[in-house]
Amino acid sequence: MERFKELGLSEPILHGIEELGFETPTPIQERVIPVVLSGCEDLVALAQTGTGKTAAFGLPLLQSLDFDDKRIQALILSPTRELCVQICNDLTKYSKYLPQVKVTAVYGGTDIRKQITTLEKGVHILVATPGRLCDLIRREAVNIDSVRWVVLDEADEMLNMGFQEDLNFILDETPKERNTFLFSATMPVEVERIAKNYLKNPQEITTGKRNQGADTVSHIYYQVMAKDCYETLRRVVDCEPDMYAIIFTRTKNDARDIVKKLQKDGVDCDALHGDLSQAQRDDVMARFRAKLLKVLVATDVAARGLDVDNLTHVINYNLPDDIESYTHRSGRTGRAGKEGISVSIINARESGKIRRLEKMLRRPFTFCKVPSGEDVGRAQLHYYADKVVTVEPKADVDKFSEELFAKFAEMDKEMLIRKVFAYEFGKLLKKYRDAKDLNIMDAPKPKSDSKDRSGYKVFSINAGRNDGFSPRSLMEIINYCAPRRGMDIGGIRMGNDETKFEIDVTGVKNFPRFFEGIQFEDIIIKVRELDEEPTSTPKVKKDKWSRERRDGGEGRSERNRGDKRGRRDGDGGGNRGKRGKNNTAQNRYRRAQAEGAKRNSKGGKRGK
Ligand code: AMP
Repeated sequence: MERFKELGLSEPILHGIEELGFETPTPIQERVIPVVLSGCEDLVALAQTGTGKTAAFGLPLLQSLDFDDKRIQALILSPTRELCVQICNDLTKYSKYLPQVKVTAVYGGTDIRKQITTLEKGVHILVATPGRLCDLIRREAVNIDSVRWVVLDEADEMLNMGFQEDLNFILDETPKERNTFLFSATMPVEVERIAKNYLKNPQEITTGKRNQGADTVSHIYYQVMAKDCYETLRRVVDCEPDMYAIIFTRTKNDARDIVKKLQKDGVDCDALHGDLSQAQRDDVMARFRAKLLKVLVATDVAARGLDVDNLTHVINYNLPDDIESYTHRSGRTGRAGKEGISVSIINARESGKIRRLEKMLRRPFTFCKVPSGEDVGRAQLHYYADKVVTVEPKADVDKFSEELFAKFAEMDKEMLIRKVFAYEFGKLLKKYRDAKDLNIMDAPKPKSDSKDRSGYKVFSINAGRNDGFSPRSLMEIINYCAPRRGMDIGGIRMGNDETKFEIDVTGVKNFPRFFEGIQFEDIIIKVRELDEEPTSTPKVKKDKWSRERRDGGEGRSERNRGDKRGRRDGDGGGNRGKRGKNNTAQNRYRRAQAEGAKRNSKGGKRGK
């Protein structure tokens, strides 16, 4: 709470959020709250969904209201009914100890007369969808010329949904001296245009990078034949008994079709698409929120503005066409600092799309093997067994204990377990008994577009000209140590005592760690990342160099095996430590160098 206090929030607000369990501000709150409280004019904040942005703008607005003025002081525009309701509910909770505050939401699809009656009673903060607000303005049922703050929430989504003209109309109706705060998860040109036309010298606040998803989301993908997409989905869902997910499809027919199949396969799910009435939509959402449904199968349009916390997974049954949609989809998991997984099921021709997403989001996408039938069975059995082990006996059941014990009196523990599991999982295991291998490849060969430099970073190695070190030595070391073959090396700058080099480390975590324990001549090699922008174009493809290796066949085959396992692990080298201690690439390199040193008696600098 201390940190919230330091941001300048007042007691009643601190009290309200403390009851909600807030302890420290999220990054967007750290940045936005003091700026709004200080009376900043306009603000553009690039923030993903689930980062706490409602409180970021909501808390300082609540604190800045003039309770004697019964007119609308703050107007929050948001793309969907769900989001409006969510924002209104959140603000009501935050202002529990400011009972004078009146917040209301207006949106389409419900009785406009009731909304007009509420507005007539006076509100301080109005949360609205653009369409319904325009309607109310035209009926002269609402007056927004007293508004001091306008918040455009999820501006990119509002524009995606075709609210451009409505936004122009509404903003023209508000006073010129208003403060405007624009929040958007992505910054396409249309949003930049709105910012340019309607905001005055806005402060820019970015948490995370442009077009970059939340840090808490891991991105994984499965690559299968198009005809096996459904079977892959089913295995992925069956492998995660605790899954609570949204599956995104491109069309409503796909959504309907998948729901039908999943329901037939015993998964609790339903579809959300444009053909549902508001009442049907509300019903599906209520069941999903109550976790009566394990998965919701939705189209992008239908899922806009959906606000569901604690999703464990987002599944892209089809990859969306643009990065903005992918960012929005994956941003529905990994919210409020929790871990989430964004899964994509792609066909043989879609590897390029994954690489583009990797580069634009600057996030690694990990290739995963489709679970086998045995993997699914094991996941289910272990989940059930863990539940049984941890459950507390219940008095309601205990009263039947004597009768139950009598039934199993003749049976030993092993037999009892076998029978219970056979009863519970016999059907499922039978279903998966002959499950075929759906993988079409072991692991992709990483490939870099030589013009795209987004994955390049600059590193320094502690050996230079004076040590007899050369670009060739550098490539030799990289060849031995790098977590995968074919890494693109950019510019190399030799110094007397150190060498700087640029390399595409897309998908590789903590590149320097792969050089630990390596020795060149008798220098213990240290590689560190530099805070410098890569400059030159790639010069060397390491693949080419690999063909010039000196150590022959044994090294190559060892290398290949390491490659496969490493990449499947997702960190490009996770299994390296499992190889025989004396057979690692590092040790071979060290040995090779020692022998080379004896032969050449090169006078390098020792013990640096
Ligand atoms: P939002 O991005 O505003 O939709 O917030 C996402 C979720 O994070 C909501 O459930 C909020 O209640 C929760 N939240 C927002 N700020 C905090 C915070 N500082 N600490 C804990 N939870 C928060």
